[in-house]
Amino acid sequence: MSAAASFYRGRIAPSPTGFLHLGHARTFATAWRRARDAGGSVVLRNDDLDRDRVRPEFVEGFLEDLKWLGLDWDEGPDRGGPFGSYNQSERMPSYAATLARLREGGWVYPCTCSRRDIQGAVAAPHAGDEEPVYPGTCRGKRVEDLAPGTRFSWRFRISDGETVSFVDGRCGLRGYVAGRAFGDFVVWRHDGVPSYQLACVADDAAMGITEVVRGEDLLASAARQLLLYRALGLRAPAFFHCPLVLDEAGARLAKRHESLSLRALREQGRDPAELLAGTLKAG
Ligand code: GLU
Ligand code: ZN
Repeated sequence: MSAAASFYRGRIAPSPTGFLHLGHARTFATAWRRARDAGGSVVLRNDDLDRDRVRPEFVEGFLEDLKWLGLDWDEGPDRGGPFGSYNQSERMPSYAATLARLREGGWVYPCTCSRRDIQGAVAAPHAGDEEPVYPGTCRGKRVEDLAPGTRFSWRFRISDGETVSFVDGRCGLRGYVAGRAFGDFVVWRHDGVPSYQLACVADDAAMGITEVVRGEDLLASAARQLLLYRALGLRAPAFFHCPLVLDEAGARLAKRHESLSLRALREQGRDPAELLAGTLKAG
């Protein structure tokens, strides 16, 4: 380690389900800047578990766009590193081990409901995608009691009424009441895919991430993730949730905002430094 090295480890974790837009650029630049200001490392992680929506050109796309923005990273899918693989689709054994620990600890139960939120659980619940609070229908079910061949997901059982509090690096003290802000949440889908919440915690812990920087629509996910860290006996990272970039109508930028994709902005000859102006200081 050089004299300037620090224990700060940050990460940038794009999902290759579309091209990056201005909102991603601002958040990722903030993550990068916080790591570099601390003399720390930047990990690039390819969150490619959503196999119905992932496309290889979007991986190429984010690598290219991040470089165009002037960001760099010390570990990642394109350059390896001591905590690889940096592609989530290649980390299934680690997720399976995490699920096994949750099962051993009695933290999860099989859920046979066929709800749309089970389908959606593999993607991070960004604004407007939050799953409805699960009413606990399957609480108390045991795998042994299910008819052979029954399809089920695994849900993490929360304690109703518990307030999960944490101090966010940007948003300050936050408290989320389990059972109100979120319910028992899916950690493993019936088709064998871990949920975003489980994969994110397993990876951030395994990769030694000390601070998670991302958009503020994931604040309530931090509360769920803290419950997972506690159940797993793992040390949780610090959190820093950035403001979302909104369109003129006040909606979160989404993949449909083609004109604000970084490739469109690049083709228009825009200067990346100018696009990020204000972000770095505000972060
Ligand atoms: N790949 C996830 C997303 O794009 C990462 C969320 C997070 O940073 O935890 O939404
Ligand atoms: Zn159920």
